[in-house]
Amino acid sequence: MKTVPTMQQEDHPLLFEIGAPGLCAVSLPPSDVPPVKRSEAVPGELLADDPPALPEVGELDLVRHYKRLAHRCFNIDANFYPLGSCTMKYNPRINERVAAMPGFINLHPYQDEADVQGILELLYRLRCDLAEIAGLAETTLQPAAGAHGEMTGLMIINAYHSSRGEHRSKVLTPDSAHGTNPASCTICGRRSIPVQSRKDGRVDLDDLRAKVDEDTAAFMITNPNTVGVFDEQVADIAQIIHAKGAQLYLDGANMNAILGITRPGDFGVDCMHFNTHKTFSTPHGGGGPGAGPVAVAEHLREFLPVPQVIRRHDGTFGWSSDRPKSIGKVRSFYGQVGVLVRAYTYIRAIGREGLRDVAEKAVLAANYVAARLKDRYPMPFPPPYAHEFVTVPDFPGSGVSDIDIAKRLIDYGIHPPTMSFPVHHCLMIEPTETESPATLDHFVEAMLAIADEIENDPKVVRTAPHTTPVRRLDEVTASRKPNVRWRRCDGTATARERSHST
Ligand SMILES: *Cc1c(COP(=O)(O)O)cnc(C)c1O
Repeated sequence: MKTVPTMQQEDHPLLFEIGAPGLCAVSLPPSDVPPVKRSEAVPGELLADDPPALPEVGELDLVRHYKRLAHRCFNIDANFYPLGSCTMKYNPRINERVAAMPGFINLHPYQDEADVQGILELLYRLRCDLAEIAGLAETTLQPAAGAHGEMTGLMIINAYHSSRGEHRSKVLTPDSAHGTNPASCTICGRRSIPVQSRKDGRVDLDDLRAKVDEDTAAFMITNPNTVGVFDEQVADIAQIIHAKGAQLYLDGANMNAILGITRPGDFGVDCMHFNTHKTFSTPHGGGGPGAGPVAVAEHLREFLPVPQVIRRHDGTFGWSSDRPKSIGKVRSFYGQVGVLVRAYTYIRAIGREGLRDVAEKAVLAANYVAARLKDRYPMPFPPPYAHEFVTVPDFPGSGVSDIDIAKRLIDYGIHPPTMSFPVHHCLMIEPTETESPATLDHFVEAMLAIADEIENDPKVVRTAPHTTPVRRLDEVTASRKPNVRWRRCDGTATARERSHST
């Protein structure tokens, strides 16, 4: 007899391993269409020798199989995610409702402009809202993610310098920059030069002055930065950069902390990207989807990608490619429309005051948690923090490191924070604005309980997690030697083998 898989079972069977030949999740009435021989319907050389070895399971077993898997997912609907530098915040259900409206999901990008006025108006309004939030002149919605926005922004900046007969080969980035910043520089054919940070996490202006010159295309700053501090020197930085004819680029991944409080355009930024999936909420764990709209100041407008969504004089909406100096197209069709619909919904649902409230609560939550943890968890950068903060746990003699604490948090029902970025062996904590004081307190108490455990019984932390279906995975081996199970092509036996691809 086959054993029936249960919700608690550790080693979850594959769909191939449950069910039996002949079982089926649908029952169709007998066909009233005369049968056609396979070999007559499909040219012989396209036919496989054997039918594919598909799993055969009943409907209820199929439903339970996927439910069981879904219950294993650590997810923000069930658990707290203090995921620094990523703004993995709660995504209001209204966004999903709107994004799933038939009028949006049934659109086709080749439809006539006259048929799709609704989405065009939404995109137009969104790009205007984002320009206003940025304090800049105009926004393109094309880029598909933050990193893609960085590339687009640097292409615009390069086009600007070229239009003035200049080729500038360097881009400066603070040493705390996200990895995508130097990568984008390289993709755009520019050298990225790190600028040192001071002990308090701000840019070292002396080092900046020493490195910026007439060969510098831009300085890419993240503000608040990845260590969670807002660099108040940013207006001075803009002056230093502009004095050499370079441009100030803002990595807008941390806009969550400053929405409605200050605007990048007001502190000297020429060009920036938004990560709409972070700041304006779209579920984006596991690699997508996202959108990285880019906003630019007046002097960079003429280089923005085409086509641009516009409002015509007669009040209708459409696409315009009338921008002779444009860098061209960076994304097919309309961009990541589903994500953009969510961003627009989020902005409209919360409104002007609501956006400021988001930032204020995100900052308050981070500073509250930091203040409650500071006696047990050393913080290398002094408060006040923006929306996130860094702690480098230090428990001498315990043998416990950042990863052990992160894993132990899973046992307390909390998703591990970002580890070892941007400081070695750190935990980077970002509670976001959406968590209740009770959840923040639960997190603080879990962290303090772990600190006690480290002092009394460090082994329990070093060997965590204890409550998950699998314990500590060897991540390198898991990706080098995946444990793959499949069903043999003869359709009969189920194989359980370890592949040794390296
Ligand atoms: C997330 C992030 C990026 C990259 O954005 P994607 O949308 O993931 O491409 C760049 N910089 C910072 C600071 C980030 O947090």
